[in-house]
Amino acid sequence: MNAADPWKGYRGRAREALQSLGGRVWADVEIETETGTFVGIILPRSEQADDRHVVLKLPTGYNVGLAVDKIRRIAEHGFREAKYKIPEKEFPFDPVKPKVTLLGTGGTIASRLDYRTGAVIPAFTPGELYGAVPELADIANLTTIKLFGVFSENMGPEQYIATAKAIGEQIEKGVDGIVIGHGTDTMHHTSAALTFMVQNSPVPIVMVGSQRSSDRPSSDAAFNLQCAVNAAARGPIAEVLVCMFGPTSDSYNLLHRGTRVRKMHSSYRSTFRTISDIPVATCTPDDVKPLRSDFRPRRMDRNVTVDAVFDDRVAIVYYYPAMKPDIIWSLIENGYKGIVVNGTGLGHVNKPLYEPLREACKRGISVVMTVQTIWGYAHMFVYDTGRDLVELGVVPCANMLAEAAYVKLGWVLAHTHEREEVARRMLEPVNGEITEREPPDGYLVFQGGLPEVEEFLRRGWR
Ligand code: ASP
Repeated sequence: MNAADPWKGYRGRAREALQSLGGRVWADVEIETETGTFVGIILPRSEQADDRHVVLKLPTGYNVGLAVDKIRRIAEHGFREAKYKIPEKEFPFDPVKPKVTLLGTGGTIASRLDYRTGAVIPAFTPGELYGAVPELADIANLTTIKLFGVFSENMGPEQYIATAKAIGEQIEKGVDGIVIGHGTDTMHHTSAALTFMVQNSPVPIVMVGSQRSSDRPSSDAAFNLQCAVNAAARGPIAEVLVCMFGPTSDSYNLLHRGTRVRKMHSSYRSTFRTISDIPVATCTPDDVKPLRSDFRPRRMDRNVTVDAVFDDRVAIVYYYPAMKPDIIWSLIENGYKGIVVNGTGLGHVNKPLYEPLREACKRGISVVMTVQTIWGYAHMFVYDTGRDLVELGVVPCANMLAEAAYVKLGWVLAHTHEREEVARRMLEPVNGEITEREPPDGYLVFQGGLPEVEEFLRRGWR
């Protein structure tokens, strides 16, 4: 990789320091600095990186940046050019094990670090994933299909449709479960979309990702994959599920219902939370323990229905104080057919928005309301302002999450533009996107009120 340039990616002062002190990229070195001595491998740097640091991979696997001005001496002990290509391996076949298809769409779970840009790039094919996590062969016979190789901000209706169709095809072929590798950022949009597009599945459809790429020691990729393959191969829940870390450590994963889940932390591995409800199950690489009984059980005699359509003239408008009406007018003028307003409190927006919202409804655009509070219901009969909006034609979406409402609206609008029918279908739950009530323990946030949290506060938190 680096034969041509022994200081690859290093510029300016950093390059000069390496050249004068004798350190090359991929050299195994001891670097003495003003603050201490570090042992590790000099990594290439990103083209956009600063010119004031040398980056070392420590024996622990973590990377550390050393300020060039503080480096006194570099001693080279060896040279180990890294090989970041994991060999693709043929998956071993065992006739008694269940059959699982892993559909790869990209994201960190399919990624490794690209030292050219310093970025995490989609680079693992699903076959390489098996090369990296051979334990998967103890659970199932895995077939891998790479559908896309994108970070999840690039997933959208076209990819939802293709994924739904691929799931349908695999189910028709008789697999015992499906795993979908996906970026975590928008996994909850896709899990909701697939819940609407793939109904009546006889087998589990389990989405999985990872918050940390597999070249990092703290990666959650391997554990998440094993849990997801287990839930797909042997688990009893035939729904679209998200399988990610439960607690902050890799002790067990949670299986979340695809319409009730949300990514809630930008970097924690335990980032997915079921909102306003409890998760469907806990899951480890060899066990699935349901936490509730109202799930759709695995039943091989069921016929899957794939209804993979989407009208993408739909938008979410996240209301903020003093929002100007031109935002709504521009959606009307640009031919949008559906608007999810994510309103304040019980579902409110300011008065200046009423007029364009009234006009939108008059022109046949479906306008629905969800709540920014994330937990709780759009209750639009409590205040005058809410009642006014309902009179204009805005439909409160109960406790549907804004992201689920967005994909549901796009899916419903692909069937009908008739506003009353759209409203009826929006409010008829497909699988848990609206629940009748929230369980008292659904609001599980670190805030006191739960016995174990109270105990923790009393004992340890000062
Ligand atoms: N940005 C990435 C994605 O959503 C993050 C991840 O995979 O966790 O594709």
